[in-house]
This record gives sequence, structure tokens and C-alpha cells, in this order.
Amino acid sequence: MGGLATNVTALHLRNCIDGAWIDATGNDAFEDSDPATGELIATATKSNVEDVRQAVEAARRAADGWRLTPAPKRGEILYRAGELMLRRKEELAREMTREMGKVLAEARGDIQEGIDMTYYCAGEGRRQFGDVVPAELPDKWAMSMRQPLGVVAAITPWNFPFAIPTWKLMPALVLGNTVVFKPASDTPLMAVRLVEILMEAGLPKGVLNLVLGPGAVLGDALVSHPGVDLVSFTGSSETGAHIGELGGRLLKRVSCELGGKNAIVVMDDADLDLALDGIVWSAFGTSGQRCTAASRVIADRAIVAQLTDRLVARAKKLRLGPGLDEKNTDVGPVISRSALEKVHSYVGIGEREGATVAAGGRVATEGALAKGFFHEPTVLVDVKPNMRVAQEEIFGPVVSVIETGSLEEAVRVVNSTKYGLSCSIYTRDVNDAFRFMRDAETGLVYVNAGTIGAEIQLPFGGTKSTGNGHREAGRAALDVYSEWKSIYVDFSGRLQRAQMEP
Ligand code: NDP
Repeated sequence: MGGLATNVTALHLRNCIDGAWIDATGNDAFEDSDPATGELIATATKSNVEDVRQAVEAARRAADGWRLTPAPKRGEILYRAGELMLRRKEELAREMTREMGKVLAEARGDIQEGIDMTYYCAGEGRRQFGDVVPAELPDKWAMSMRQPLGVVAAITPWNFPFAIPTWKLMPALVLGNTVVFKPASDTPLMAVRLVEILMEAGLPKGVLNLVLGPGAVLGDALVSHPGVDLVSFTGSSETGAHIGELGGRLLKRVSCELGGKNAIVVMDDADLDLALDGIVWSAFGTSGQRCTAASRVIADRAIVAQLTDRLVARAKKLRLGPGLDEKNTDVGPVISRSALEKVHSYVGIGEREGATVAAGGRVATEGALAKGFFHEPTVLVDVKPNMRVAQEEIFGPVVSVIETGSLEEAVRVVNSTKYGLSCSIYTRDVNDAFRFMRDAETGLVYVNAGTIGAEIQLPFGGTKSTGNGHREAGRAALDVYSEWKSIYVDFSGRLQRAQMEP
């Protein structure tokens, strides 16, 4: 690893319950290691359902005090947290790259997204507008205001281990909810860092509680605990469906942000240089491990051969390596051995269905790469829209090229999967661009840009199996983390009956 900063002494990471950093009751631990090198970064306490219970109870106890803290004061704590993040951005980014593999420039982007979301939500401390509307009766006042739900369970994945938790924690907190945070077991360090920052910024004890440990063991206890009012989850569709079912039976609010099978459409009039940049970035950035990653390129017959040749050449040039090695690495590892096996299995699945590997296709094991979980950036061609590689989320650096003959056909193919998160079109024809914007069945649409790169001030989320109808980020997030209360004040001094007065 040469001169890279890999000599960090292994840390021990603990839960944060009721303001105290403590080991789980079972005294068990799990390992947190670097997917590029296999080096141990930290050990983390492994919670069980008793720890979940304690965390929820602490959050419950803190709920009234936090709810009654003026929202602008809550916002000020978030401002201070944003300042701390900004000051520590570089060290946080380096820890992130070590912990989950994304290249350093992207890790900086992940932290920046967390900072953006934190500042954005801090501002909500002084907004949270309600309506004041005319009442239909004389001497009567009618208005609405937001109320916190109570205790929020935030369950997050490893691929944006800082940004995604801020998408949940910051709106939840500024709206007056208390939180139990269960991060992915692959990224406990980033979760600990985020909670440390919020505590240092002045969050009262019990308002944010962290529980580390396996979702498969802790998940049901957390979701079904009667003290939890809202479950906000990002991750796989399978886990999301399970959480949605369990929460639904208990009539809880459950917000799920799940997978994608995102497509980039390239029309025959597109700027191909621009399109190629967007495809390479969207397909291979974060080693394809973004819910918005482009895993399908839908190219017009007139340009598909030229585009594919150039995409193959670009994919072959990408250099695999540890994300900390900024000068020599374009694409980092995938998160784990099981992820590597899953990603690679799709190459075989594609070939058996008739696809051809035009670039990559192998697990990379040359030299130091053998110590990590590296998969070559892969381009599959001869792919038909109904093949599994064109329908299922691969979550790795694998992109399929599909040929189409018209905008209508391209839109049909874009919409032909069970997911509906992101898609994009490259064209110079404004009419085609607007038709696409109208007809694509996704929550995010890009024109002349790739499928990734959402900004935090607009709603984020998808249609169909990508979620269950909620949106993160932007003003839309406020609706997830609060309840509306409508209030009528009658100052007439007599009984007035709505809809029944003359
Ligand atoms: P999971 O859905 O299993 O994990 C996401 C989060 O849910 C983690 O915190 C996990 O904990 C937790 N979890 C796991 N099982 C349960 C459960 N029964 N109840 C409650 N929480 C649970 O996704 P993976 O990380 O295993 O990734 C698998 C696939 O999911 C990927 O290959 C990809 O296709 C998709 N995915 C999509 C993401 C997106 O951004 N839309 C993000 C991540 C994954 P723990 O880590 O302890 O298991």
C-alpha cells in the first residue's frame, strides 16, 4: 500500500444509548474491514434485541423534551453539526474510503451531501410552514401545523454511509422526533462519526441513539417495538418489503427507499462524447453500487455500434485499485465477498441468456487486488430488454447495452422493469426531451446528464418497487417525518356547526 494512510490502529465502536457510549449487553463484537485490502479497521459491539429495547426506551424518554424544544433551537444544533462536518470533511472522507471502498473524490462528495442536507434541514428550524386559511363560519380560526411523530427508527445501507443517514436523521430531528439509528454492519465507523458530531453539536442525551449489529437479528424487534412510530429504511427491495409488511400490520408509517434498474437513453442526435462521459460515470462510479447507477444503456440503432465501441474502450481503460490511491485508481472494490460473487454471477447469467461480454467480465485478482473485492468494469452487449441482466438490480460495475429504434421503443424499455428510480436521455431534440420527461415512469429524470447526482433540495425516490410512495430530501421529506394537525379555534361564544349553518 506504499505511503497510503493505512496504519490506523483498530478502533472499538460502541452503541450510543441515552447519551452514553456503551457496549451491547451481550458483549459480542463484529469486524469492520477495508474491502480494498482486507485490513481490519475496527471492531464493533454487536447488539441484540435487549439493546434495541433500551435504545427505543431512551428515545421515548427524550421525546417530550425534544418535541418542546423550539424548532429554531433544534435547527441551531444542526448548524453546529454542519460546521463540524465541514471542518472534518477530509478525515471523514478518508475513513469512508477505507471502510467501504469508494474512491476518495466520491467519499468527499458523500460527506458534502451530508453537510448540504444538514444545513438544509437546519434552515427548516425556522420554516416548517403550516396553513392559515379562512374558516367557513364567522369568528372562527382555521390553521394547520406540523407535529413530530415521536420515535423514528432509521435503518440505512453502506453505499452512502454518511449522506443517507443524514437524509433521515436531519429532517427527523429538526421536526422534533427522537431517533434510533441502525446503520449497515459494513459501515459502523461512519455511523459512529455522525453520531459523535451530532452529540458534540449539542444534541441532548437520548434524542439520538445508535445501535450497531445485524439487521437480520435486530430488525424485527426495532420495527415492531410499540415505542417506534416511523421506520425509515433504505436498502434492498427484499428487506424493504419485509419491513413494510411488518410495519403495515402494526399500522406504522414506513418509508422505504429501495433498488433501481436505471437506464440511459442515447438518441441518434445525441452528443456522443457527452453521453459517454455520463454513462461511464453513472455505470462505474461507486463501482456501480448506487441505487441510481446506470445499469442499462438504451441506444438508438443508428449510433449503437459507435457508442458501444467507444464505451468498451473507455471501460477497459478504467483502473481498479484502493480508493485512497487517488492518482492510480478510477474504480474501487465492491463492498464484500458476497457482493462480488453476486455481481460476478450476473456475467454468467447474462452469457447463458445470450449476452456477450464486450469489456471486463472477470473478478480482478492481479497483485494486490487479490486482497480485496474487485470486479472489472463490465459491458454486456446483445442484451434484450427482458433478460435478467436487463431486469434485476446487479449493484456492481456491470452495464448492459440494448438497441432500440425509436423514442417510443426506448421509453417502453426504460419503463419495462419493476423499478422506477432514475433514468436519463441524451438528445438535442427538445421535443424528444420533453416527451421523455413526461413518459418516463421514474422518480428522477435527467436530460443530457447521467442517472446519478441528485441534489438534496428536491424530492428523491422512485415509483413502483423502488419504494412505497414516500420521498426523501427536499420539502417532501418534511411530510415523512411529521404529522399534520389541523386546529380550529371558535371565538364566537356559541355553538356553530360546520356545514349546517345557513
Ligand atoms: P439490506 O437491505 O440487507 O441492508 C440494508 C440495511 O437493512 C442494513 O442496515 C441492514 O443491516 C438492514 N437489514 C438487513 N436485514 C434486515 C431486516 N430483516 N430488518 C431490518 N433491517 C435489516 O441490503 P444489503 O446491504 O444486504 O445489500 C443487498 C442488496 O440490496 C444490494 O446488492 C443492492 O441490490 C440492494 N441495496 C440497495 C441500496 C439502495 O441504495 N437502494 C443500498 C444497499 C443495498 P445489516 O447491514 O446489519 O445487514
